Amino acid sequence: MDLGIAGKRALVCASSKGLGRGCAEALAAEGVDLVMNARGPEALEATAAELRAAYGVEVTAVAADITTDAGRAQVLAAAGDIDILVTNAGGPPPGLWSDWDRADFIAALDANMLTPIALMKALMPAMMDRGWGRVVNITSQSVKAPIAVLGLSNAARAGLTGYVAGTARQVAASGVVVNNLLPGIHATDRAVSLDTGVAKAQGLTLEQAREQRAATIPVGRYGTAAEFGATCAFMCSQYAGYMIGQNILLDGGAMNATM
Ligand code: NAP
Repeated sequence: MDLGIAGKRALVCASSKGLGRGCAEALAAEGVDLVMNARGPEALEATAAELRAAYGVEVTAVAADITTDAGRAQVLAAAGDIDILVTNAGGPPPGLWSDWDRADFIAALDANMLTPIALMKALMPAMMDRGWGRVVNITSQSVKAPIAVLGLSNAARAGLTGYVAGTARQVAASGVVVNNLLPGIHATDRAVSLDTGVAKAQGLTLEQAREQRAATIPVGRYGTAAEFGATCAFMCSQYAGYMIGQNILLDGGAMNATM
């Protein structure tokens, strides 16, 4: 299926690895030129080179922390006109509800709520002027079903979800389509780091912690970055024009709910 977005230009944040990379690769496969970002230049340059070679698209790589004002300014200066925005950043650390103080909440809000909002505010006006745009915010299954140890994530992402719900409807008539994509457990470095914490706390090996978690997912396995990226690319496609302000859950059936 041709998604009808060849020649568009996308900014995919936090995309040297994991889910962001999956999204960048799926867009590149559709002929979309990319602006990619991550903090570490080595992995970022390596991924950019791979995607350039594999798909023949233009790839600009900007090594910067997307959660800081300076990092965002650097990325936006290099980005130029953007048709497709995929927001993403690392997730907050796990802990207990009583662990976190104001500074921890502010850091989580900066990374997982205020950064995507700042990027939308910077890039959507030009999309609206051109009458076409797509925004996909990578959030989390925790928006629909809380993950108790990820209280900072639950809180910050809920704030972003509320903002998107209203904003998506305000900009829809201009041809700009804004939605959120909610990962359940996917096989990335983030999953390894969370599973390592569980393994330590429960005296398990990493493999045992992984198997224990996979057994709670109806599909019986973790998701892949390629599956995640393909869904993201569809949400950025010409065919997603009537999908407004939705929260698309990719969790292998983990959330036990009828709707
Ligand atoms: P990952 O495998 O750890 O990859 C994170 C990517 O983001 C890397 O390329 C990393 O590169 C980059 N990055 C991290 N912080 C950044 C920053 N401040 N500025 C720019 N780039 C940054 O993580 P993932 O599994 O893909 O997760 C992506 C998001 O989805 C996270 O917010 C995570 O909490 C959420 N999520 C993931 C899962 C899952 O199962 N994987 C489930 C639910 C939610 P550098 O380190 O070099 O910057």
